Amino acid sequence: MSNNRYYNRNHNAPPQQERKRSNEWPKKSNTTLPSKEQLSISEVPYVDTHAHLHYVLEKLPDVFNITSYDILKRDHFPSNFESCINVLCDPLSFNSNEIFPNTFMDWQVMAKTSFMYLAVGVHPHNAKDYNDYVENNMMSILNHPKCIALGEIGLDYHYKNSPKDIQKRVLLKQIEKAIKLEKPLVIHTREAEEDTWEILSNNVPKEWKIHVHCFTDSPRFAKQLLDHFPNLYIGITGVVTFGSAKNTQNIIKDIVPLNRILLETDAPYMIPAKLNKNKRSFDKVTISHSGMIPLVAEKIAQLKGIELDEVMRNARENTRNMYGV
Ligand SMILES: [Zn+2]
Repeated sequence: MSNNRYYNRNHNAPPQQERKRSNEWPKKSNTTLPSKEQLSISEVPYVDTHAHLHYVLEKLPDVFNITSYDILKRDHFPSNFESCINVLCDPLSFNSNEIFPNTFMDWQVMAKTSFMYLAVGVHPHNAKDYNDYVENNMMSILNHPKCIALGEIGLDYHYKNSPKDIQKRVLLKQIEKAIKLEKPLVIHTREAEEDTWEILSNNVPKEWKIHVHCFTDSPRFAKQLLDHFPNLYIGITGVVTFGSAKNTQNIIKDIVPLNRILLETDAPYMIPAKLNKNKRSFDKVTISHSGMIPLVAEKIAQLKGIELDEVMRNARENTRNMYGV
């Protein structure tokens, strides 16, 4: 009897080889990308309203052989992808036409890419680097016809890469520029609700077009912004698919109407959770790109209890109202 139990216990244990394999399971995973078929879940045309595709190309290993924006689009975006707004927010990229001429890092190459629009502004992380030289470079991009907004600018008290008072001063300075140039604003705000509210409500005209990108703050703050600014839109990224993103999910369910949502990837960040469902897989999607927008919309549709195409159609219309494209 006891022998038999012993035998059974051993029999149920994983084979020796299997156990060894899981002990040696590599911590570092390979980067993979989803197939176009996985992303082709809607036929409604769309715009990725906020991406940093130059970082996507920079991060992709050579094995993918993606050496240009055209190749990235051709081989990896579903056919309903229309265009994207590529955001330059690091001062180093403002004169990338001199540092990296004729490469995918060169902002003039981005501007020449048929399906790409630009937005430019000094990110709160880089506020400490703001000076006349940076501002002049920023102005030359802002004057390009493909540059359709100023941003992302704002306040980030989560990382505090620049001191708070400098972040506030640089945000204000850039808001003044946007108003003078009549450019829509792209706002980044994280754990800085009070100061962001104070600066926006006191310095930006009520009717101004504002895209609050990758919104993760409180539902109360979302409502305050939407009520005060009639042309303000809430940008939703792959964050909405994360199990931990309860704030963002509640905002979609209860606060933001369909006609105030913009779809964005914030590529290369915020990879939709669905793409890494198989947690044991050695290959992981570690980089997002503009082809993944339909998966963001799919989650919004699920949260609102409506059809995916309805989210896609509304977001397309909102993009036209916000950016004129
Ligand atoms: Zn961004």
